[in-house]
Amino acid sequence: MLNLTAIEKIGNRKNYIAALKANEITWDIIVIGGGATGLGIAMDATARGYKTLLLEQADFAKGTSSRSTKLVHGGVRYLAQGDVKLVREASIERGLLHQNAPHLVKNQTFIVPVYTLWDKLKYTIGLKLYDRIAGKLRLGPSTLISKKETLEKMPGIRSKGLQGGIVYHDGQFDDSRLALNLAQSIIEAGGDAFNYVKVTGLLKDTNGNVNGLTAADAETNETFTLHAKAVVNATGVFVDDILMMDKPGSAKTICVSQGVHVVLNKEFYPSANALMIPKTSDGRVLFAVPWHDKVVVGTTDTPIETASLEPQALEKEIAFILETAGNYLDKKPQRSDVLSVFAGLRPLAAPQHGEQKTKEISRSHKIIVSPSHLFTILGGKWTTYRKMGEDMVNRIEKELNWKHLAPATSHFHVHGYDINMNWNDPLYFYGSDAKLIRHRMNGDATKYLSEELKIHKTQILWAVEQEMARTVEDVLSRRTRALLLNAKESIRIAPQVAFIMAKALGRDENWEKEQVATFKKLAEQYILK
Ligand SMILES: Cc1cc2nc3c(=O)[nH]c(=O)nc-3n(C[C@H](O)[C@H](O)[C@H](O)COP(=O)(O)OP(=O)(O)OC[C@H]3O[C@@H](n4cnc5c(N)ncnc54)[C@H](O)[C@@H]3O)c2cc1C
Repeated sequence: MLNLTAIEKIGNRKNYIAALKANEITWDIIVIGGGATGLGIAMDATARGYKTLLLEQADFAKGTSSRSTKLVHGGVRYLAQGDVKLVREASIERGLLHQNAPHLVKNQTFIVPVYTLWDKLKYTIGLKLYDRIAGKLRLGPSTLISKKETLEKMPGIRSKGLQGGIVYHDGQFDDSRLALNLAQSIIEAGGDAFNYVKVTGLLKDTNGNVNGLTAADAETNETFTLHAKAVVNATGVFVDDILMMDKPGSAKTICVSQGVHVVLNKEFYPSANALMIPKTSDGRVLFAVPWHDKVVVGTTDTPIETASLEPQALEKEIAFILETAGNYLDKKPQRSDVLSVFAGLRPLAAPQHGEQKTKEISRSHKIIVSPSHLFTILGGKWTTYRKMGEDMVNRIEKELNWKHLAPATSHFHVHGYDINMNWNDPLYFYGSDAKLIRHRMNGDATKYLSEELKIHKTQILWAVEQEMARTVEDVLSRRTRALLLNAKESIRIAPQVAFIMAKALGRDENWEKEQVATFKKLAEQYILK
């Protein structure tokens, strides 16, 4: 626990890093990785009262955790695969997350349009079962609706051959905003969390047990050594790199599967109800989900050899999404209609006997304890991040013979908690912070950098001062979602964002130029040529 207030930690990175370097305490738990999994573990450990430190090499949620389908869901698809245990666990977590972060998790109605009587029967029964599994924590009952009602609720859907629809409920959220609010919650609860600090090696005691690590500040390249009673490897698709630091030559524990989404204007699907296509030609589900006034359509499941922080959508994945969506929509989206395309990598536990394709590999999480007592976690879902954190800390206590401390996150309010939500407010995703931001805007509409995306100068300052943003990409990709919502528009406003940030961070013109150039290069990968 570093001896600074939460405001000092969040608002002054230089001092925060200096305090980390100067501190000689032994941490109870150091978590490597600031995606959903690492944040869930650090949140749980902090809430139990452990001295906890989280280190993220890039920005919080830079990896997979900002590239999801944005669903907090039980997983209709896993039910179809017969994984009732996972659906039950995810449905409970869906309900808890809806209660604990009501400013980010919305109760979303989904409709499955059905074109045969057999599908009508099959999905009605399946979704009733889905309701039952969630029990008291279900978000609403599923219902069968007529063709007429389906067409009313799903304008733009193909009417030829339509038999009706089945309405059901799941959660819909903003993934990187939740990650950020969790990092803030960890710090406010007395824990520590750094972005842009990369773990470069592991330290061991004379018995060969991991007792700390070496790390480097990615901004200054300064290195330091930190000691801990337990080290957790929660690095998603990079877990094998950390396992190699522990034991060179370790066998691969994960396989990587890529998922792509495209973002379209809502005229292609002008509905408040999400579209769910349960079985596409490649056998997986496809969603069209309303999100920040646009529609997110995806996803794919493509095995990938090499993990990277900026995976690239493959042409065949884009073609598959556009073609499949076009089969269900009156107005067929073309490549030129895509506002942004983003890819994410699933860190799946390597296949078990009998599992062939990545879409068949269970999404359950798995904990590995190395002989050196390095704790590694694989797989899982955003939806179950809290339970994954709880399971990991329980396991650490058990393996290291620590006294069991009661878990405390099932009813823990995440930073920004607000139940009086107006989802039409462009600032809704700030939750309880929205009124402070609005107050600072002071009614000055001239400071909008983007009218289309409703991004105001105050939000840039807020991101730097209150949300640990360090780069233009942090602001345009994960504090606001401009890069994912309209990549061209995000490039257009990047110079203004860099200018405001440079002033707030005390950076010079060279930094500003370099930031704009780096962001432009990155954002061009989100645009279809
Ligand atoms: C296309 C797609 C759609 C999905 N949709 C959904 C959905 O709708 N709902 C849902 O519940 N789940 C969904 N998931 C699953 C969910 O997004 C992932 O399970 C989750 O985000 C994984 O989080 P993570 O923390 O394990 O990995 P990541 O988010 O990748 O985080 C790992 C972090 O570790 C960091 N790191 C790596 N090496 C180091 C190091 N040496 N030092 C410090 N840090 C390091 C990385 O920079 C990275 O930020 C989806 C996944 C994909 C790919």
